[in-house]
Amino acid sequence: MFGEMKYYYQFIEGAILGSVVGDALGVPGEFMSREELMEAPITDMIGGGAHEQLPGTWSDDTSMTLCTIDSIIEKGIDYDDQMYRFADWLWNSSNTARDEVFDVGGATKHAIFRYMKKTPALECGELAENTCGNGSLMRIMPTALYLVGQYGNWALDDRTADIIHNTSKCTHAHVRCQMACGIFCSVVFQMTCGGDLHNAAMGGIISGLKYYRNRPEFATVYPEFESLAKVDKWSESEVESTGFVLHTLQAALWCLLTTSDYTECVLKAVNLGRDTDTTAAVAGALAGLWYGERQIPRDWAEKTAKYDEIKQLAKTFYFACLKNSKTGRTASEYIP
Ligand SMILES: [Mg+2]
Repeated sequence: MFGEMKYYYQFIEGAILGSVVGDALGVPGEFMSREELMEAPITDMIGGGAHEQLPGTWSDDTSMTLCTIDSIIEKGIDYDDQMYRFADWLWNSSNTARDEVFDVGGATKHAIFRYMKKTPALECGELAENTCGNGSLMRIMPTALYLVGQYGNWALDDRTADIIHNTSKCTHAHVRCQMACGIFCSVVFQMTCGGDLHNAAMGGIISGLKYYRNRPEFATVYPEFESLAKVDKWSESEVESTGFVLHTLQAALWCLLTTSDYTECVLKAVNLGRDTDTTAAVAGALAGLWYGERQIPRDWAEKTAKYDEIKQLAKTFYFACLKNSKTGRTASEYIP
């Protein structure tokens, strides 16, 4: 068990780099259909695609994740600072793979515009039904890891859920997006307890559903998430992989639960088609967390933009996650 936080650093490093590599693998396949990818599957770190990028180029998913990491390192949880960094990314190409922003979601862009016009961070997010994209889910992983270090949580509680929901709200305020982030974090929490992958991931889903079951503010969307309790039994035809937040969560969990190593998981995610980079970034975070950075193929790592830099950042982030930890744990006790 992870009760002693023994593997906390490995979880952080694996989740961050697993997500970055998943994103980069998926970039060339974005918008391709499952049928097209079935004919010619992506099996390696290639370039090209709709965005015409070099091999190893990651996208907005990673950029926003890195902005969140930077913000947590500097400020802990500070929503205004996170939005400031998102704006800096969008306008100045900070935290990009190759000094260029080539992809941004509609809801995210509008939220950043609102922030630039002085709207408080927590009021910037879109609320409309048709804005339930995966733009907050794709950047929630660092927050989940930070909460593990700060509070040692193995399940959602009101304190951690509030932080997760607020983090989503900055760009995606609909309760569906908030709950998707919550369920994802619940899975991360359980996975950091170790044990068996299937039990840990399914346990995280079940415990997350239990948290939301009797909360009236989530009553309208709760039924949409209930089927996740059986996502490990779904056939591929039941899994959708669009940019809709629920689809991304379902697809990422399905890929994690129906594969047995990092490579198999992220390639399965990419080859589902449509929003390939985000599905693989979210699935890759979970697979990387579980299997560790060492399972990421070396030639993929070598081709991935700024890989070593991000690996170094994971170390700094690890120390930040344990700084002033309410668990009484310190980073020096767990230096790998
Ligand atoms: Mg992307």
